Amino acid sequence: MNSTIQELQQRYANLTRTYNQGIIVNPLQTGGRLTDAAKAAMQQFGDGYSVCDHCKGRLEGISNPPIDTFVEKDLPQFIGADAVKLTHGAREGKYLVFHAITKPGDVVVVDRNRHYSSDAAIQRAGLNVVKVDNDGTLERKMNVEDYIPLIKQHRPKLLFITYPDGSVGNLPDVKRLGDIAQEYEIPLVVNAAYAIGRMPISLQDIGADFVIGSGHKSMASMGPVGVLGMKEKWRDILTRPVEGHKGKEIECLGCTVRGTPLITLMASFPEVVERTGRWDEEVAKARWFSGELESLGLEQMGEKPHAHDLMMFQTDVFYQISGKHPQKRAFLYEALKENGIFGVKHGLTKSMKISTYGTSREDLEKVVATFKDLVNRYG
Ligand SMILES: *Cc1c(COP(=O)(O)O)cnc(C)c1O
Repeated sequence: MNSTIQELQQRYANLTRTYNQGIIVNPLQTGGRLTDAAKAAMQQFGDGYSVCDHCKGRLEGISNPPIDTFVEKDLPQFIGADAVKLTHGAREGKYLVFHAITKPGDVVVVDRNRHYSSDAAIQRAGLNVVKVDNDGTLERKMNVEDYIPLIKQHRPKLLFITYPDGSVGNLPDVKRLGDIAQEYEIPLVVNAAYAIGRMPISLQDIGADFVIGSGHKSMASMGPVGVLGMKEKWRDILTRPVEGHKGKEIECLGCTVRGTPLITLMASFPEVVERTGRWDEEVAKARWFSGELESLGLEQMGEKPHAHDLMMFQTDVFYQISGKHPQKRAFLYEALKENGIFGVKHGLTKSMKISTYGTSREDLEKVVATFKDLVNRYG
């Protein structure tokens, strides 16, 4: 039976969420929280195709709102790139590059710590993958020198690395990999979904060919939206025109972000630029937080001392508690929720990911106190 209008109204009217009224620790969400400026702009530009009022045929040529200056001047300056393309997110940026500059059957060398969406993009582009392992310890450290023997053996068309990875938040030596890429004359793609918009990063400094960011992950934006920075030499290939349609490009299927997500990216941009200048404070906060949790018996995975707000902890203490607690595996989620803390996965197992990004010390102290209380009470 089809749903009636009344049923549809019941189901979809008054959609709400509770997380946004609490302390959020989910790494996916801490960098994508909107600024007040973005919320205001969202109201103005919420309608479909709202940025197209003054379009003369090319999205990135629109000057009202100033998308042209944003894409041609401010974004390239921010990430040290010669040219920038807007995308619908990090994965779309990756696929766009893979599709544009490789052929099915080409080899790409990738890091073990990569995100699943990198594999999706690689497989959609029909590439063969060669993997560089991490050190196999709790630290999961990547040694970029390990790319060299695989380059010699497999003659790849592309090198790919994740900076930082989305699992334990490690920051591999991408600058050294940039040198390696240049030495062997193989283009390097850096997936910086957790870097661009949080911390300073420059394609030019790294010596990479492409650097990829995610607006909803790390640039205080409503998604889906992303940025793709590149060296000048790739611009023509990535922006090759659709025959017979001036201003439209093949690789992005004509044009990309046609509305609200882009507006929030632009509206948040001044604050995003400003906050990356305070990255040292974020790292200090993450280290302090990690130390507090370790003193409770949790163990931080990934590099130590840690250099990013995304952290994974082994939580054996909580796993033990879950065995005897009446709420079983849900106890931690429920206890955190009671204290207005959101973002740790329901039905916790033996580890959890936490991000301290943009959260005040005062709020993080509440998180620590809640963990401490649980350990003292049940541990
Ligand atoms: C979150 C994440 C992505 C996906 O970003 P989207 O913009 O949603 O595609 C890609 N790579 C890494 C490392 C991530 O953590």
